[in-house]
Amino acid sequence: MIVDLHNHTPLCNHAEGEIDAYVQEAIKNKTKIFGISDHAPMDFDPEYRMRFDQMQEYEQKVLNVKRKYADKIEILLGYEVDYLKGHMDERVLNADVDYLIGSVHFIEGWGFDNPEFIGKYEEQDIDEIWQKYFDTIEAMANSKLFDIVGHLDLIKVFKFMPRGNINEMAKNALVAIKNADMVLELNVAGYRKPVAEPYPSKTLLKQAFELGIPITFASDAHKPEQVSLFNDEITELAKSIGYTECAFFRKRKREFISLAL
Ligand SMILES: [Zn+2]
Ligand SMILES: [Zn+2]
Repeated sequence: MIVDLHNHTPLCNHAEGEIDAYVQEAIKNKTKIFGISDHAPMDFDPEYRMRFDQMQEYEQKVLNVKRKYADKIEILLGYEVDYLKGHMDERVLNADVDYLIGSVHFIEGWGFDNPEFIGKYEEQDIDEIWQKYFDTIEAMANSKLFDIVGHLDLIKVFKFMPRGNINEMAKNALVAIKNADMVLELNVAGYRKPVAEPYPSKTLLKQAFELGIPITFASDAHKPEQVSLFNDEITELAKSIGYTECAFFRKRKREFISLAL
């Protein structure tokens, strides 16, 4: 991937491999701009993320590889932050980073992408679940706290699909994303999950393009060997819809790079 802004480290307790190995994989795949954005600390669901007292260690580790590989690749520092009311912390929101990814992993406290809690999908109307999910994405965009929307349609992860029209369900969320001037990531993690396609789907990506929402790319790697997987598929997808450039952030300031490079 030319730009790849969503990658994890073992500090989140559910990724493996040293940061160096992720970076070397990105260099091998000719990535120009590689962002590390591990799960930010939070006082909810703490076992799947670093602790607050590890933030400095994390940031230092990323800045170390940034220096070490400066002549081969540009490394950026970010966090993937959960949009969860009452649990977002100033220490994360005000961190001195290049960008923040805003992600929704919880609907009313339910970790809907965790296989442990998959039974909950049977307890509620599937269309209501989807609408609640996109309403939460809309609230996340309206908070204007983040630069990038993480995996826009993660709610499809286990392939419990709604009866209703997904473009209709996502419409207000996408308009809010546009109004907040956020960037959408094309995240390949979905290829590794039961749904077996990227986040977002082609039809949602088309809708985003028509609204003028910029994109970036994301391996969402939790292992070094996942870096840049499915690059050809998502680059092709982006181009087929009409995208010609890709966004990234330095110190929370947005810049673009051509997809023709
Ligand atoms: Zn993760
Ligand atoms: Zn995520």
